[in-house]
Amino acid sequence: MKIGRKQALITHPIARWNVHTASHLCPYGLWSGQAGNVLASVYWLQQVRPAQRTGIEEKYSGMQLSSTDTGSKRPFHPISDRVGVYVCGVTPYDTTHVGHLFTFATYDTIVRLLRLLGHRVVYVQNVTDVDDDMMRKARELGTTWDKLAEDQVSQLRSDMHALNIAMPDFFPRASEQIDLIIEMTKRLVAHGWAYTANGNVYYEARKDPEFGPPSDLKSYGDMLVLANERGNTPTDPNKRDPLDFILWQSSLPDEPSWESPWGRGRPGWHIECSAMNYRYLGPTVDIHGGGYDLVFPHHPAERVQSERFTGIKPFVRFWCHVGMVRLSGEKMSKSLGNLVLARDLVKEWSPNAIRLALANHHYREAWDWEAADLPLMTEIDQQFGAALQRSGDTSSGCPLSGSPMLRAEILAALEDDVNTPLAIVKLRALAAAILAAPVSADVRSAQEDLRSLAGVIGLRYPGPPGA
Ligand SMILES: [Zn+2]
Repeated sequence: MKIGRKQALITHPIARWNVHTASHLCPYGLWSGQAGNVLASVYWLQQVRPAQRTGIEEKYSGMQLSSTDTGSKRPFHPISDRVGVYVCGVTPYDTTHVGHLFTFATYDTIVRLLRLLGHRVVYVQNVTDVDDDMMRKARELGTTWDKLAEDQVSQLRSDMHALNIAMPDFFPRASEQIDLIIEMTKRLVAHGWAYTANGNVYYEARKDPEFGPPSDLKSYGDMLVLANERGNTPTDPNKRDPLDFILWQSSLPDEPSWESPWGRGRPGWHIECSAMNYRYLGPTVDIHGGGYDLVFPHHPAERVQSERFTGIKPFVRFWCHVGMVRLSGEKMSKSLGNLVLARDLVKEWSPNAIRLALANHHYREAWDWEAADLPLMTEIDQQFGAALQRSGDTSSGCPLSGSPMLRAEILAALEDDVNTPLAIVKLRALAAAILAAPVSADVRSAQEDLRSLAGVIGLRYPGPPGA
């Protein structure tokens, strides 16, 4: 592993940038744009170097995470002194529906939990602003792809803010990654994993024996059927095999295009995420996910591209996919007209009630959105609020008994593959204990526990009096 990382440092396309100059120019935080990309690249280089120098090995935490590829839980060990987290973000044309919210609220909780446990986290969420769906939608609306993206990203930011979903450290757009995408594509062609045809470049999926995980698909036939259901174009005459997927394609006249060794064109979807993972987090990512519909073919494609480009395995250590949210048993989609949008929900329900409704399902669960759940979630929110407002005898020196045990149980639930439904049950027990405590009890530390641990699932309450 260490040798592999060293190779990556040497071969990184912009490793020549002066890290010492950049480090004091740019504080840690949200960067975007080309300058941000350069500094972000420098940022991850700095993060992996201390581990190489000092030989820091994986450190233990009490957290257990499941991974889609193995289907089982195992202890979560960060690979270095920072945890890299990447979630595939929106293609910005129908934001922000409950399915999006469930994914981003889940990753918000994962990141908050890791930080509560003392980890330094770098969290990346991308925006797929160059994509076939974006082009189609922009044509339908009579607008341009970049204007559509701008409007939708603005809506997404507003919805995330309303629901206390923290913004990622990096929020890059695919259209900002073209230089690195071209570098990666060139290398995949040079190493024989990809081929060119009439201004397009394809990854030769069928010839790569490692194409498949993190999905459990083994047979070529099964892969082709599912790929075709999810946007593959098997009859493309430029392909050597129907399962091959696009890395670069020539653009139509009304589509964005960039100069490349293969003519003017635009990238394919999968390579965009490989580039953003590499640029912001390096060759190996601790936790990577998105909705379950990305388990195939998007993530197998990302994985083989990334590992064949860097020569380093694994590309991802924990694949954490988030269950699909349905409405009356059907997938939510614009075409079915059954999207439940964040901006409509917040008109009627409190952000805390909505976050509770999301966290009341384990992140891997596929479930039906039920508006009828919201009144109960509102009651729970009010119970937590009342417990936090309750006053106690601050001079008694007699803390609420049982509170440390409940705190441990809530944390244990969250550390057990982010079991938010169980954490809510335990949070309710803590709130009930505070409300039922005798007047002589000092409930302040129990209230601090309730406030901080409810905060992990995104609940916000006013601070204590005088705070
Ligand atoms: Zn992706």
